Amino acid sequence: MLNELLNFTCKQLRDKIAGGSVKSVDATGAVLDQIEKLDPDIGAYISTCREQALETARSIDKKIANGEPVGALAGVPIAVKDNMCTSFGATTCASKILQNFKSPYDAYVIDKLTGADAVIVGKCNMDEFAMGSSTENSGIQQTANPWDITRVPGGSSGGSTAAVAARMCFGALGSDTGGSIRQPASFCGVVGLKPTYGRVSRFGLVAYGSSLDQIGPVTRDVADSALLLNVISGRDERDSTCVSKDIAGDCDYLAEIDKPVDGLRIGIVSEFNKGADADVQKAIVAAIDVYKQLGAEIIEIEMPHFEYAIAAYYVIATAEASSNLARYDGVHFGHRTSAPKDYVEVYSKSRAEGFGSEVKRRIMLGTFVLSSGYYDAYYLRALKVRNLIRGDFTNAFAKTDCIMMPVSPTTAFKKGEKTADPLQMYLADVYTIAANLAGIPGISIPCGFDASDLPIGLQILSDVFTEDKLLRIARMFEAKTDFHTKTPTVIA
Ligand code: GLN
Repeated sequence: MLNELLNFTCKQLRDKIAGGSVKSVDATGAVLDQIEKLDPDIGAYISTCREQALETARSIDKKIANGEPVGALAGVPIAVKDNMCTSFGATTCASKILQNFKSPYDAYVIDKLTGADAVIVGKCNMDEFAMGSSTENSGIQQTANPWDITRVPGGSSGGSTAAVAARMCFGALGSDTGGSIRQPASFCGVVGLKPTYGRVSRFGLVAYGSSLDQIGPVTRDVADSALLLNVISGRDERDSTCVSKDIAGDCDYLAEIDKPVDGLRIGIVSEFNKGADADVQKAIVAAIDVYKQLGAEIIEIEMPHFEYAIAAYYVIATAEASSNLARYDGVHFGHRTSAPKDYVEVYSKSRAEGFGSEVKRRIMLGTFVLSSGYYDAYYLRALKVRNLIRGDFTNAFAKTDCIMMPVSPTTAFKKGEKTADPLQMYLADVYTIAANLAGIPGISIPCGFDASDLPIGLQILSDVFTEDKLLRIARMFEAKTDFHTKTPTVIA
C-alpha cells in the first residue's frame, strides 16, 4: 500500500507541513521507506542521505512548532541529479572517474533548496556526465522505467524522473543540455522544465556543454514546476551567464499559474509530428485540440533550419565537453591509475580507466572538430547553424506565443534497444535539442498514453525569459485533463 502522504504534491505537502497538520519527519520517512521498497528494482538513486534528511526534517518541524517562519519548500523531500555538487556525500556524475569525489562546496541550486527549507534525500542516477538519452550510459548502475521496468526511463536525468514518477521524492532537479529533463520526463509521465539559458545559475553543476546546460525542475504537476523554479532561479555572481532579474524579469511563477493566456497563439510545424510514432502523433493532435477548444489559434509556422539541429548540437556539445572534461586527469580531479610507469601514463591510464565508452567517443569527436584544419569546417559552421536556428525561433515567436510538438518520436524504449547504435540514441532528442541551441525555455507535460500504456509528453516552447507564460500555457492543459494524475504500475 502506498503511504498516503506520498500522494501530495510539493505545494500541498509544504502547506500541510507549514500549517502543522503533517510533520516533515513523517513525509521524509515515507519517502525513505518508498526508496527502500522500490529502488532495488528501479535504481533511481546513486546515493541517499537518510540520517541527514531525517535530521533536517526534525529541525524544520521544530521551527514550525516554535512558530518560526519557514521557506517555500518547508520540509518537502527533494532529490537532485548527481551532477550537482553537494558538500555532503559524493558527487559522481555517474562516472567511475568521479566515484569518490567529495565536493568542498554546494552548488547554487543546493544552497537555494536548503535555504527554502527543502529536505534533500539523495542523488539520482544519470548518463555519465549527462551524455545520453536513456541513463544506460551510467558508469554506476542501470535505472528502470517505473511504468515498465524492462524499459529505460529516458535520459540523461532518468534517475530524477523515475524517482518522481515512483513517488521516491516529491520533486527533483535535473539538467538539460539537449533534452535531458524533457525527454525522460515524457518517458516517465512527469513534468520537466528546462528554463531559459541563464535563468538558473550553473555554479556547482558539473559542466558538460557550458553554453547549453541548464538546471530545471522535475515534478508531478505544473504548479510544482513553478514552485521549484521560484526557488532555484535568480542572479548568481559566480555564474557570469546567469542573468539578473532586471533583464530576466522578477516574478512569482506560482502566483498566476491558474490564469489562462488570453488569445493564445500556438505555432505548429505539421511536418514535425509526422516523424513521430503513430500513437505519439495522435496524442499530440488530441492535445492541440484541447487548446483549440479553449479558444487558441493554431498557426502553421516554418522552421527551415530545425533539421540541422542534431548535427550542429553534436559538434558544439562535444567540442565543449572535450574542453570541460580535460580536468579529469588523475592530477587535478578524479580517479588516478595505480602504479603508472611515467607521467604520460598517469593521464592516459587514469582517463582510460575512469571514462566510459560514450564519454570517450565524445571527447574524441570534440577534440577533432576543434583541431586546426577542421575548426572552420565543423565547429565554426555549427555555430553559424546555431544562429540560423535562433533566427527561426525569433521569427516564429514574432507571431506566436509558443510552439508545440512532441518531446520525443517514441515512448520509452526497451533497455538495450539502442545501445549498440549511438546515432539511433542521438535521434531520441530530435525535438528537444533546438531549444538548447537557441537558449529558449521548454516544458514537457503528460498528454497521453500509447497502446502499451506508456506515457507520452507534449513539448511546449516559448521565447527567452517567458517561463511565466509557458507555465500558464502548460497549466491550461493540465486543468482540463487528468494524464498527470495517473500512477505507474510499479506503485499501483
Ligand atoms: N541526449 C543528449 C546528449 O546525449 C542530451 C543530453 C543532455 O541534455 N544532457 O548529449
